[in-house]
Amino acid sequence: MSSLKLDIVTAEHIVYSEDVDAVIAPGVEGQLGILPHHAPLMTILQAGELVARRGGEEDTLAISGGFLEVRPDRVIVLADSAERAEEIDMERAEAAKQRAEQRLTERGAPGVDAARIEASLQRAMARLTVAEKIKRRRKL
Ligand code: ATP
Repeated sequence: MSSLKLDIVTAEHIVYSEDVDAVIAPGVEGQLGILPHHAPLMTILQAGELVARRGGEEDTLAISGGFLEVRPDRVIVLADSAERAEEIDMERAEAAKQRAEQRLTERGAPGVDAARIEASLQRAMARLTVAEKIKRRRKL
């Protein structure tokens, strides 16, 4: 069975590098499914969940936006940040979410950059969604 090589990298490190069967990524216009032999593509990602299917398994990561490029039998994600579900610190993400929500109530006040705070809220929510999903799956 043919497969895709998926590399997820940030400015700091290589987060994920595996041969996979399919990738489901959070495109800005909705979920993007990529199978082997997909046409070349370059697109922007938003904060959300990225799933890599591998044999009967699924690897799930939280991505906080970036770029995705499809090349023949290769997918490269240049992410602003990315964490494997198991590596997510839920308390930290919950604290970041609460901080962002609090700051958004001060929207309009001097020095409050609503777009930046919204982005931080989206990152925190993506991390929490991914971490909660994995936690639930482990309990089953
Ligand atoms: P915080 O306010 O908690 O720092 P942030 O959204 O500002 O969150 P980023 O700037 O997106 O954090 O990420 C900085 C680094 O910390 C990245 O390497 C990212 O992968 C990591 N990181 C951020 N939040 C978490 C988390 N909840 N669990 C694990 N790693 C995290």
